[in-house]
Amino acid sequence: MKNRITILIIASIATLIALSGIQAYLIENTYQLEKKLFVQETDEAISDIDNHPELDSITDSIGEELKASLSDYKNKRISKAAFIQKIKIKADSVNPQYMKRYTTELDSINLGYKIRYKRQIVSIVTFDGKKTDSIFPTATQQNLLILGETFDDADAQTIKSSRTFTEFEFVDKLNDSVFINSIDVEIKTKDLIVITDWKSIVFRRMATLLICSALLFLFVVGLLYYSIKNLINQKKITEIKTDFINNITHELKTPLATLGVASKSLKNKEIQHSPEAFENTLNIVDRQNTRLQKLIDQVLTNSLSSQDIVLSKDTVVDTIYFNDLIADFKLATQQKSLHLINDVCDEDVILRIDTFHFTTALLNILENAIKYGNDKVEIHLKTEVRNNKYIIQITDNGSGISEKDQAQIFDKFYRVSHGNVHNVKGLGLGLYYTYQIVHAHQGKITVQSELTKGTTFSIIIPIN
Ligand code: ADP
Repeated sequence: MKNRITILIIASIATLIALSGIQAYLIENTYQLEKKLFVQETDEAISDIDNHPELDSITDSIGEELKASLSDYKNKRISKAAFIQKIKIKADSVNPQYMKRYTTELDSINLGYKIRYKRQIVSIVTFDGKKTDSIFPTATQQNLLILGETFDDADAQTIKSSRTFTEFEFVDKLNDSVFINSIDVEIKTKDLIVITDWKSIVFRRMATLLICSALLFLFVVGLLYYSIKNLINQKKITEIKTDFINNITHELKTPLATLGVASKSLKNKEIQHSPEAFENTLNIVDRQNTRLQKLIDQVLTNSLSSQDIVLSKDTVVDTIYFNDLIADFKLATQQKSLHLINDVCDEDVILRIDTFHFTTALLNILENAIKYGNDKVEIHLKTEVRNNKYIIQITDNGSGISEKDQAQIFDKFYRVSHGNVHNVKGLGLGLYYTYQIVHAHQGKITVQSELTKGTTFSIIIPIN
């Protein structure tokens, strides 16, 4: 059974981990999709800005500069580096005007969040019919910013990659002869944007999904926890019930065996002719009968819960009530080595209690002090009045109860065992019953104990 529960717990945890993994994978996928969608939406919203006539003419002016410089480069009047430099100077000169118009257009769209934009040349390659000439990128420079703001490519999203392929004619002055030459030019550009706070925007869009996922996850964990706890409880209850059946069988065996022997003796002629022996045997039958009756009563009455108990309250004076209780207890136990200190508070306090049930509840504690006590039993019964509450403390010098067991001794059928062995007879119902009775009186019962030192039970009931 224990192994099965362990396997079940391990399987449940493994399933939970696998489920969490799948959920995390799905959330990550959704996140990437939402991110893509968001960038796409932004791209669509700003795509028209490019077509603005003013921005168009600025872009054209850079194109013109590019053509002129390319002609110079092809005629070997300038180097590659100077060609790039010339484009850069032109771009820098028109960029402020471009950005001003771009920002105004962007504001008019009213996106609701801030973006930064840039366009950069990625490559310029020419082909004259025989060989290709890669003018850009160079060994030292990979991207050439022509329009927009400066920011790191790593934080940016590419919204457009363009490839312009044109035939370009220029005046070739090679070998003192002048003629028109044509080459093919391929220019690749890239438009990039940075959306500030895009992460929080995407997360906000995913909020419902994230909250539902977290709640679902917590629900599954809770459900699993509850099921496993229930299973362990069920296992405990089964163990306790088996324990109880073993205990009660054991308790019934002795009086039944004695009754069997006694009834056989009563049939014996010798015993029948000896009035003294006959009387003795009848007394044995009587005692065993009472013992059996008590056992049955204990099971029937002591297993009641506080809701089932109907109290019939009497008015008692505490000093008289406790003096009688102690006297009866001493008489019943006939324990010679018992030292009971009666420390009932001096003033007379009127209590409203069900004397039958309350006395049985207190007797359970007193009897336990002897059952679980050592050779010289010392019991200290102390009472006091505090804040209109009546406090009863019963302290013994017995074996004590470990902290772990203290939490369970008031449970139905719970018995403290030492390595699965119960040294003292009992059904585990006494303290359960006491707890129910104290609660039926709107009271509280607590235990303080230290192993080998002793135990104190404190009962607090209202005075009314
Ligand atoms: P039972 O005595 O029939 O086992 P109880 O409900 O009266 O059942 O007590 C439950 C358990 O609490 C006992 O098995 C015993 O181990 C422990 N216990 C109760 N009272 C004392 C005490 N005064 N000292 C030590 N152990 C105690």
